Amino acid sequence: MHEVGLMQSVLTMSLKAAEAHRAVRIDAIHLRIGALAGVVPEALQFAFECLRMGTLAESAVLKIESVPILCWCRKCESDFHPENQFTPCPKCGLSDFELRGGLEMNLVSLEIPDHV
Ligand SMILES: [Zn+2]
Repeated sequence: MHEVGLMQSVLTMSLKAAEAHRAVRIDAIHLRIGALAGVVPEALQFAFECLRMGTLAESAVLKIESVPILCWCRKCESDFHPENQFTPCPKCGLSDFELRGGLEMNLVSLEIPDHV
């Protein structure tokens, strides 16, 4: 359950950002998670529901966008999205590629109420 630790750091970052904007609450937290990040979205959601208690994010929604694996074939010099990191290039069938995406876990944005 390393999702709890991850969620804790995401929440800490979010709360700091919200405080910097003098927000009274956080409406939503947007995350992008790569298919190879090794994070289970359901576990992250569960961790979020436990950790947000008593914080500005207590009523916030966690929105998770999953990022597909992105590989770059050295032979075809083009990108492709394989099922997993062991799938060869669909054009040439070779496995001579670089992994360029799918490992990330980013806090993308926060939704906070507008000042009135
Ligand atoms: Zn190729």
